Amino acid sequence: MAYKIAIDPGHGGRDPGAVYEGRQEKDDVLELALAVGQILEDSGADVVYTRVDDVYNTPFEKATMGNNSGADLFVSFHRNATPTPGSANGAEVLVYSDEGLPAQVARNVLAELSEAGFANRGVIERKNLVVLRRTQMPAVLLEVGFIDNPEDNQTFDSEFEQIAQGIADGILESVGITSAPSQGMENPDEEMPVPDGSEPEVLYRVQVGAYRERNYAYDMLNQLLADGFPAFILYDDNLYRVQVGAFANLENAIRMERSLREYGYNTYITT
Ligand SMILES: [Zn+2]
Repeated sequence: MAYKIAIDPGHGGRDPGAVYEGRQEKDDVLELALAVGQILEDSGADVVYTRVDDVYNTPFEKATMGNNSGADLFVSFHRNATPTPGSANGAEVLVYSDEGLPAQVARNVLAELSEAGFANRGVIERKNLVVLRRTQMPAVLLEVGFIDNPEDNQTFDSEFEQIAQGIADGILESVGITSAPSQGMENPDEEMPVPDGSEPEVLYRVQVGAYRERNYAYDMLNQLLADGFPAFILYDDNLYRVQVGAFANLENAIRMERSLREYGYNTYITT
């Protein structure tokens, strides 16, 4: 079985995380986490995401998603901030206990982030963070520069690809994956063409079930919500259709589908 990595973009939905001059932590970390996840997948790792869109889950739910996915490693993505904007800079990695795999991942990732231009603030033990304490697998929380520091933001934006590649490399070398990118033969449905965005009115919905009995639909809805998915019911044609998310970008719908399948749901994408 492939090595499985849970990617947790911090915050989301009604929780923006740190905000500085209109820039929101939840957006930065989602973009970065998805980029890192893609590189990890291309390198042959199994990747699951606690969110692939702008949705809110509690840290406890995020940790639970990681645990339910059976991931071997949990990586949470954040950006830092201080009470006094601009007074601090650099990257740090938080771990529950500075030993074992988390310590290794932390140092390798920090070395890469340092090369990308962030000051290295080192590894910090934190006992009270839910995503570090409640996760059953080794876990790290990356603070990728300070969002309230314009120079760190400049580094984040201008070196984005190097940062994403660096974090992925730091993780992969820590867990011993060095293989070339797989050719994706196991998931041919991932090779569906992605539209160029010229038809933004089309929304891709991930459907998990369609029922004539309302109760069955609500049972499925509640199970999805309990697992942290942004599910809802669409009733038409005498059917209760249980769906998760509506995406303008097919790629994001596919990511959601993959995430659902990791939880054992049967899915297909509809428009
Ligand atoms: Zn955060």
